[in-house]
Amino acid sequence: MARRLPGGQTMTTDATAPGTAELARAELEKRFNRLVGTSATNLCTHCGWCIDTCHVYLATGDVRLSPVAKADLIRRHYKRSHDWMSRVFPRWTGARRDLTEDELDDWVEAAYQACTLCERCVVNCPLGVETPQLLAAARGTLTALGKSPEILGQLADAAIAREEHLDMFSGYFLDQIGVLEEEVRDKLGDPTARIPVNEPADILYVPLSGAHTIVPQAVIFNLVEASWTLSMFEASNYAMFIGDIPRAKKIAMRVIAEAERLGVRELVVSECGHAYAAFRWEAPKWFGGPLPFRVRSIVEVLDEYVRDGLLPIDPTVNAEPITYHDPCNLGRKGGVFDEPRRVLAAAALDVREMTPTKAQNFCCGGGGGLVAETDWAEQRLTFGAPKANQIAATGATRVITSCDNCRHQITELGERYDIALTDVVSVSELLMDAVLAAKGPDLQEER
Ligand code: SF4
Ligand code: SF4
Repeated sequence: MARRLPGGQTMTTDATAPGTAELARAELEKRFNRLVGTSATNLCTHCGWCIDTCHVYLATGDVRLSPVAKADLIRRHYKRSHDWMSRVFPRWTGARRDLTEDELDDWVEAAYQACTLCERCVVNCPLGVETPQLLAAARGTLTALGKSPEILGQLADAAIAREEHLDMFSGYFLDQIGVLEEEVRDKLGDPTARIPVNEPADILYVPLSGAHTIVPQAVIFNLVEASWTLSMFEASNYAMFIGDIPRAKKIAMRVIAEAERLGVRELVVSECGHAYAAFRWEAPKWFGGPLPFRVRSIVEVLDEYVRDGLLPIDPTVNAEPITYHDPCNLGRKGGVFDEPRRVLAAAALDVREMTPTKAQNFCCGGGGGLVAETDWAEQRLTFGAPKANQIAATGATRVITSCDNCRHQITELGERYDIALTDVVSVSELLMDAVLAAKGPDLQEER
């Protein structure tokens, strides 16, 4: 039976299938862990402090979409089995055992459409209630029930298929890299500049699929004469968004196995929020221990190169006012706040902070996989209103960010909210421009 979900997406479900509530409860139980813990039962006092910290609520004024209300949809089911008071007085605590198809549709809205898992509510909750962990548990449960957005599962499958059909992909990939290598040589005026693939090196750099995540970094790696290589695989891991840990592990393992085979000392992740999270702290949890190499974002590496004075930099090429958007995974969750700011301070003349900033910076509204879900574009652009207001208030005409999803969303926010933005680019791209400018006018012309 085709069901119409909030936002117009359709999904095939069997409303008459027996045992949906039992299956859902069993899947929720699998996800009851230390992180969910007391947040799933009685830690939340319903003080309401988190309500207007959530960009979704701020953009809509809809209390149903506030953190506490979204968490309660899931919490009432955990309470029934994990809270003694709820076992005895379920009506008093609001604990529930039954679960209808309509309620599962509400989960889809709460956990996928109306939550980017940004954790701004967590850093503002006086008790540290892990609302996004509850909603992530709901995402995983919905995936197990076949109710997750199809596109996210398809993107995860595509990443796995690339490994399974590597022979088919490798020729095309190497041809593309050859084209990009020529571009890097032109930019540097250096016919010996290289983009190594699958070579033993100190650094395995893991890009996304776009050239803008390979060329600027290759220019800089060549300039500092880094020992680096690409592998055949990109960094993104869409299975994470749907809480499908077996598939997320499989996608991550493609890269981890390559890093081990090539004997690298460090895995450097492209400017991608969720990929950074996947390798930096999710993979050690998935695989039961630290990875046998260091994991950093390319932004942390660029910061090191700048601080060590390894790069010539001419900030006058970046004279327009710029502002930095903290991707939630790198910033609020990963603590990478100062590294991009130091690079921008060196590579641009007029850097303006958003208000609030760093751990309190607003999510762009496109995180948690929302950018990939075209059926929910209208909602995510609505939810991005607080971010659009922040950007407009800076007067910046360029936005710099370290995540491709944020970049995509902020570009669309500029159009939707009529902000006069020249462009939205990564830290790597901004730095590359400053570096090439410093290397001389001849190279600037070749660019
Ligand atoms: S999640 Fe935290 S801030 Fe929000 S209502 Fe519960 S206790 Fe209060
Ligand atoms: S994680 Fe972000 S989007 Fe989700 S409820 Fe909390 S503040 Fe809102």
